Amino acid sequence: MTTVKQEEQTLVEKDRQNVWHHISPYMEKSPPMIWAKGEGAWVTDHEGNRYLDGMSGLWCVNVGYGREELAKAAYDQMKELCYVPMTQGHEPAIELAEKLNEWLDDDYQIFYSNSGSDANEVAFKIARQYHQQNGEGSRYKFISRYRAYHGGSMGALAATGQALRKYKYEPLAPGFLHTAPPDNYRRPKGMSVEEYNIMRAEEIEQKIIWEQEETIAGVIMEPLITGGGILIPDPVYVQKVQEICDKHGVLLIIDEVICGFGRTGKKFGHQNFGIKPDIVTMAKGLTSAYLPLSVTAVRKDIYEKFKDSAENSHFRHVNTFGGNPAACAVALKNLEIIEREGLVEQADRHGERLRKELAHLADHPHVGDVRGIGFLLGIEMVEDKETREPASAARVGKIIADCKANGLIVGKNGDTVAGYNNIITLSPPLSCTDEDVDFIISVVKKAFEENK
Ligand code: PMP
Repeated sequence: MTTVKQEEQTLVEKDRQNVWHHISPYMEKSPPMIWAKGEGAWVTDHEGNRYLDGMSGLWCVNVGYGREELAKAAYDQMKELCYVPMTQGHEPAIELAEKLNEWLDDDYQIFYSNSGSDANEVAFKIARQYHQQNGEGSRYKFISRYRAYHGGSMGALAATGQALRKYKYEPLAPGFLHTAPPDNYRRPKGMSVEEYNIMRAEEIEQKIIWEQEETIAGVIMEPLITGGGILIPDPVYVQKVQEICDKHGVLLIIDEVICGFGRTGKKFGHQNFGIKPDIVTMAKGLTSAYLPLSVTAVRKDIYEKFKDSAENSHFRHVNTFGGNPAACAVALKNLEIIEREGLVEQADRHGERLRKELAHLADHPHVGDVRGIGFLLGIEMVEDKETREPASAARVGKIIADCKANGLIVGKNGDTVAGYNNIITLSPPLSCTDEDVDFIISVVKKAFEENK
């Protein structure tokens, strides 16, 4: 009879032999955790160890693991009709588009794809074609921000502002420019947050002017930078960027791949800042990652440009799996769960507690800043509080390892090349219970207390 331990070793062995993991090298001493089960906010590995998943997978399992309702929605739809090419239509896609417009509180046309990268690629293609059909074919460039992540495909990666992710894969798609995002913790001494945020927004305007306004198609940004280290702008920044885009005829594309579906305490992250994007991209929390699905939501009057004439009526983009009926059915059920359980409001409530209970970490000798919005938290670690020198990889790694040893998975984010890979992140399922939140707080507190 094989023991669980032997079984695990066999699995690890097979994994080593056949699976090429994303990003992480396969290190002999630390094989990847092999996940076996998930329930609520908790996941269990093959050896039976339980962890609270403080990152919701990759910031995506918003309603938590093990939802029978979602499995049933997929099962029922697959039995009824498993596939429709999106050159045609089907009921779950139609209903979901209607529902998304309700959530967006506006009138957008909904284009379906499979992943966040896909959704952003589609946004770039739509923006370029729109300008062409609008008599402004010279507008092809996009402005994005350093430290932002927008996906792994050649266009979305070009928009990404983290150099290490691009290194060795260049040349990427041409026509992508970057400016610095507001990083309020590291703003120049003596400058108010508002002044600093206005300055950062004006850098986007400078870029548009210096590159020649008539070459700029769009600005793409997350409502707040997530993967690059939880950089939350002052509302004045986001509002000013929208003003600048409007003034210069540039489309504003908001990437809601992480911030959407309740994460920031609103249905969509941009709703915190009172703006109306021209294009909104979404993925991850749309289905809580139970099935792959993404959306590029396009303002109605932009879409109307694609109905002008026989020549203009084509948007020549197709993807086989986009808008899969089972994925759309799961998304609809997922949104129903979020509404029924009040998870958007819960994100705010849980987040507020987390920020309150962990605020005192700012007194820790190696914590420079604790910041968050909704159920999203960043703890920026430093070597020295005065100089704000980012904490070493070993120091950050120790906190992560101690949290894991005590049953909590936390993330590490920032940007290696910029020197800021020093932000401990939390983005737990919005469905966490109050006891789950207590657990997160106690494990994080303990890890910092023991590593002064
Ligand atoms: N945009 C953002 C903000 C993301 O965080 C990600 C993925 N982490 C993407 C786009 C790309 O999504 P995907 O991995 O589904 O292609």
